[in-house]
Amino acid sequence: MFDTDLINRFQQLETPFYYYDMGLLRQTLEACKNASDRYGFHVHYAMKANFNPKVLNAIQSYGFGADCVSGNEVKAAIAHGFDKGKVVFAGVGKSDKEINAALDADIFCFNVESVQELIIINDLANAKNKKANVAIRINPNVDARTHHFITTGLDENKFGINGWQLNDVAETLRKCANLQFVGIHFHIGSQITDLEVYKSLCIRINEMQDWFEDHGFQVKVLNTGGGLGVDYHYPDTNTIADFEGYFKVFRDFLNVKPGQEVHFELGRAMVAQCSALVSRVLYVKNGQKKNFLVLDAGMTELIRPMLYQAYQKIENLSRKPASPQVGKSESEDSGHRTQDSKFKYDVVGPICESTDCFQKDVELPESFRGDLFAIRTAGAYGEVMASGYNLRDKVQSVYSE
Ligand SMILES: *Cc1c(COP(=O)(O)O)cnc(C)c1O
Repeated sequence: MFDTDLINRFQQLETPFYYYDMGLLRQTLEACKNASDRYGFHVHYAMKANFNPKVLNAIQSYGFGADCVSGNEVKAAIAHGFDKGKVVFAGVGKSDKEINAALDADIFCFNVESVQELIIINDLANAKNKKANVAIRINPNVDARTHHFITTGLDENKFGINGWQLNDVAETLRKCANLQFVGIHFHIGSQITDLEVYKSLCIRINEMQDWFEDHGFQVKVLNTGGGLGVDYHYPDTNTIADFEGYFKVFRDFLNVKPGQEVHFELGRAMVAQCSALVSRVLYVKNGQKKNFLVLDAGMTELIRPMLYQAYQKIENLSRKPASPQVGKSESEDSGHRTQDSKFKYDVVGPICESTDCFQKDVELPESFRGDLFAIRTAGAYGEVMASGYNLRDKVQSVYSE
């Protein structure tokens, strides 16, 4: 991702900033588009992963729909040119104001997470003399086998409607004249790398659509959610997520009936690898037990490592080996440049919290004040989660073009 020219360009810039490789973003989007088009699948981009305007414009230009989780995301999607007929709105706590905004915007569908929400959307639609399309978000109780902090599809999670409530859902749908049932929705978690998990999800979806059809509802849309993971350990080897493998699981295991549409909501897999957080070393603190590298970026710029115990690869850009080792793949040297791996550092930020640590005991070449660092795979749930805690400056973005 970083050649000498780019690193020289970074030298001139104030840090920290998010660097976006727009070429890589387009390559990723193209791969996703080609893989989903092959089976006629519809992809909605999960906007919460990254709503940087340039990123949104690029994604919109491929014709993807938008998956929103707030009224403001609905508005932003439409303002950035996403087709309102391809906007879906999920979330366990949609406020009346947000529901009204989405009704006014004539979005494609609400993904509804409780019986009470169905009744509220019906009432608000009735007041506007509108009919709202709804899909029922079902909690399939499928274990996503990802970190428990980002698992959403188990009975113990707050999301979706559990199987034992479905009779109540059916009864409510029959009573609500301002709702149009369009289908069923699922989202079991994030950073899913074991594709077998999606096979289990398909089996649950097949059962659920049969249940609805047996109860007299026509299921037009099967929305499988998102969650496809990326490789945080080897971003240069596995640069583009396995879209082919992912969509093929659904092609193979989902029971798609004539006239049905299959929808997806991908966030992370579309944007994670195209960005890195670039930061400088402010101070090197050598201690008796630990050596610390204090960066000028912290949890206020990138909180995933602190919030989810997430791993993100950390590189010293200023001390990359002069020539890459020819014939040796990234995975063979286990992500580290072993020839200089003489030092272990805790890489921390400047924020007044002990949890403000990107990673402990990182093997790195000896590092010095002023060295440029990159924290890789930061395009998803990075810039969007930045905060003003400690009255920090708003984090800047730099683009490859
Ligand atoms: C966050 C979210 C997604 C996207 O998840 P990724 O792991 O980024 O693919 C999809 N659907 C819903 C309902 C979400 O909340």
